[in-house]
Amino acid sequence: MPEGDTVYQAARRLDRALAGQVVTRTDVRVPAYATVDLAGQPVHSVASRGKHLLMRIGDLVVHSHLKMEGEWRVHRPGERWRRPAHQARIIVETPTAVAVGFDLGALDVFPAEEEADRMAYLGPDLLGPDWDATEAIRRIAASPETPIAVALGDQRNLAGLGNVYVNELCFLRGILPTGAAGEVELAPLVDLASRVITANRDRIARTTTGNDRRGERLWVYSRGGDPCRRCGTRIEYDRLGRNDVELRFTWWCPNCQR
Ligand SMILES: [Zn+2]
Repeated sequence: MPEGDTVYQAARRLDRALAGQVVTRTDVRVPAYATVDLAGQPVHSVASRGKHLLMRIGDLVVHSHLKMEGEWRVHRPGERWRRPAHQARIIVETPTAVAVGFDLGALDVFPAEEEADRMAYLGPDLLGPDWDATEAIRRIAASPETPIAVALGDQRNLAGLGNVYVNELCFLRGILPTGAAGEVELAPLVDLASRVITANRDRIARTTTGNDRRGERLWVYSRGGDPCRRCGTRIEYDRLGRNDVELRFTWWCPNCQR
């Protein structure tokens, strides 16, 4: 799953390449929207909302979610794509750019006036102009029994955290990912989430350790069996969650996190 900063960067790249231009050609390779033709329509803006990407064109919004393998790339006209064409789900062309959404986990097109309603279920966006820590805390606190790692990843509580940040934040706060949300000090945790994802918003390589070197950028995520960078204890990992929606792998240091 992508993290909100990845989607934020993709939106910004697309916005710079497309906003203010008129679409010359679209090709939507998703059966439900195969007849959508945005040629002649102006691109107003491209923005992220949590992990959702919103491309506002004419009276419509092209909404996508990267899920596992998805990616938006911007090419110059005639430039060779860096991924196979059969992975393309949508192509949006302007006179100066060819934006291609590859292997998008979700793609739909809806009228612009529906955007607010469709995104309304999301919690405050960590990287949004209207980020609201108090509201995020209120939403997490409403389900005190939920494991904190599940609560942090639930986009209805706060939008933008994927499993990397969820695990790293628990380490940084010294709390177990399995701990009940109601027993966690939420204000400093949510504040840290905002600061860490914001610090990474403009970085090419995400780091939570402050170290930029490959293989040294994260504390615990995907480091099962490796020694904790702080105390040397072996990092443990397990699955967490009561169902497929909540299912996530978690990593933690049994010494640093209690
Ligand atoms: Zn440790």
